[in-house]
Amino acid sequence: MNNIELPSETQPDITSTDETSLLVVILDSNPGQKMLRDNPHILTHCVDSVIAFANSHLMQKAQNKLAIMACHSKTSQFIFPGPGRPLDVRQIDGQYEAFTNVEKTTKQNLAKILSSETSSAITESLLAGAIAMALCYIARLNRIKPPGAKLNSRILVVTGSGCSASQYMNYMNVFFTAQKQNVVIDVCALDQHLSLLQQGCDITNGLYLKVPQLQGLLQYLLWVFLPEPPIREKLVLPPPVKVDYRAACFCHRELIDIGYVCSVCLSIFCKFSPICTTCHTVFKMPAPLAGKTKKKKKI
Ligand SMILES: [Zn+2]
Ligand SMILES: [Zn+2]
Repeated sequence: MNNIELPSETQPDITSTDETSLLVVILDSNPGQKMLRDNPHILTHCVDSVIAFANSHLMQKAQNKLAIMACHSKTSQFIFPGPGRPLDVRQIDGQYEAFTNVEKTTKQNLAKILSSETSSAITESLLAGAIAMALCYIARLNRIKPPGAKLNSRILVVTGSGCSASQYMNYMNVFFTAQKQNVVIDVCALDQHLSLLQQGCDITNGLYLKVPQLQGLLQYLLWVFLPEPPIREKLVLPPPVKVDYRAACFCHRELIDIGYVCSVCLSIFCKFSPICTTCHTVFKMPAPLAGKTKKKKKI
């Protein structure tokens, strides 16, 4: 993550009497996603659905706040509110100016990011970094809000990328930070099942949904992810599926069922090694005929 630029425009005004809901949408715009390599036009459909969903969030309550981020292979950026001055929009076809502003700003900034993409090498999306940026943004708004004001924040990740165990540590750090800050993480998987992000939803009490039909993306977003977390308890939403709680080994970043755990620093390894590569603790080699394997724990 080499870009930590945050929106520089005026801070969203949060007054002390309001209960404000902040939604941060992280849209994976990496052209390396399998579904985009098969059909690049799907991105337009996804962007349109996300903008309509974001505007529905703003429509629910006048105090609701919104931020949209684009997560790319080398950088993550806020595309609404963008880094520059807010656009000066006039009413078009009777559409509320705030909605036009969301749509125009998002599309303009996303086009800038996509046109700056030069390499054709397929690299994974920096989702963990984008979630970390969203958490920083939420923490900043929490810090500057007037005393007594309540800010309910949640993050929605919309991605077609596969699971990347190479970001395992980063994922776990952001999930537990989000849990500590009472930020709900929702994940809408467009193409592939994401077991690590599913763990994040489970940890932060968010919802995970693998969209069965991409054509109906907006409907899934509106039905499943639009209601606020307290209202969700009263709704009949897709039943929670069994969470795959496998961990990634620190040596190869692969998800494993059974492995070795360092008794000092709790690092996970798929093979026994006499020296822990994380904390450099030296272990005794297991005796050849003892029949006991040392420090073997089921994860
Ligand atoms: Zn390994
Ligand atoms: Zn260790």
